[in-house]
Amino acid sequence: MFEKMDRDFVLHSYGRNYVNFKSAKGAVITDTNDKEYIDFMAGIGVVSVGHSHPRVVKAISEQASKIIHVSNLFLIEPQAKLAQKLISLSGYDMRCFFSNSGAEANEGAIKIARKYGEVEGKAKRYKVITLEHSFHGRTISTLKATGQVSMHDYFGPYPDGFAHAKDIDDIKTLCDEHTIAVMLELVQGEGGVEPMEKQKVQELEKFLKDRDILLIIDEVQTGIYRTGELLASNLFEITPDIITIAKGLGGGVPIGCVMSSLKDIFKPGDHGSTFGGNYLVCAAALEVLDILEEYKNSGGLDEAMIYFEKCLSEISKKYPDIVKKEVGLGFMRGLRIKDSESLTKIIDEAFRNRVLVLKAGRNTLRFLPPITINKEELDEGFKRVEVSISKLS
Ligand SMILES: *Cc1c(COP(=O)(O)O)cnc(C)c1O
Repeated sequence: MFEKMDRDFVLHSYGRNYVNFKSAKGAVITDTNDKEYIDFMAGIGVVSVGHSHPRVVKAISEQASKIIHVSNLFLIEPQAKLAQKLISLSGYDMRCFFSNSGAEANEGAIKIARKYGEVEGKAKRYKVITLEHSFHGRTISTLKATGQVSMHDYFGPYPDGFAHAKDIDDIKTLCDEHTIAVMLELVQGEGGVEPMEKQKVQELEKFLKDRDILLIIDEVQTGIYRTGELLASNLFEITPDIITIAKGLGGGVPIGCVMSSLKDIFKPGDHGSTFGGNYLVCAAALEVLDILEEYKNSGGLDEAMIYFEKCLSEISKKYPDIVKKEVGLGFMRGLRIKDSESLTKIIDEAFRNRVLVLKAGRNTLRFLPPITINKEELDEGFKRVEVSISKLS
């Protein structure tokens, strides 16, 4: 009944899978037939502390019973606390603007860069360079920033001032007198779970600093402990000018953020969001950060990441004819599968075996489990993944 309702009344922008979930706890989701699925995708990296974490549920319900929303024209206490917390955990000297999504955070980043490029009496610098295979969002300008041209059909004309580089070295050749910023993911998520080389990124950072070109790091997927540190920028030991986050920040509620070292770039009226950073989402995000900070400080997170990696490499070694190599960092990992047809078969089979996994790029089997996933859930999930891969051989 709901399937028909969905087909009749919802626009078909997703290849929808018609399973109907009714509840979820930790990394286990239950459907209306009481079948249990192991969640190795966490709503595409969103449910960072697992489904219905009791502390997040409590924070949201308590906040909802007090006050949910006022306009950003007023002080919002949990928003101020969240900004302070993000800045202190990151170690960067920045300020925050809260949005509702990753694409919006990136829009904010582009606006900050473009405003910085406007200097009285000089030709405006406006060009933003991104990488091929990158993903930065679905709005018109973040879609243009996204370096996967296959996604650009139909929706033009696009705003000017974006260029796509083949790789980090090619970025340097594309930088010219019009360039204001370079925007990068440190591990390309949608593009294939492809980490950048730390040394190359550090060299690029220096190259850009020398030319007063801003470095924007899109941490919408890598951020919030996904790679083992609050931000992948911390792991890469760089100091970007602008950082965007979203996915894992709210543990499931929609929240994004652009962090900027240009602390006074906006004057009242330059940017805004009706919903961005309201009481409800900030209360949830504060609790998510507390949970993950404690988990990191206890050593539990690093231990879990090592175990996760071990499980993956065992599978990869066992099926060398199917799995070409392992890619990724921390809890953002993938297995490069020999071809895209085999990958599709594995993902379909995994669903039948009740483990939820993702595709990235053309032939990468992607894993983005809840960061707090426990050993039992990992063991059970990987057992099911292995059965799914073994069907191919
Ligand atoms: C998912 C993602 C986005 C877009 O986020 P939305 O919340 O879907 O707008 C942008 N950049 C990266 C790196 C992402 O992974």
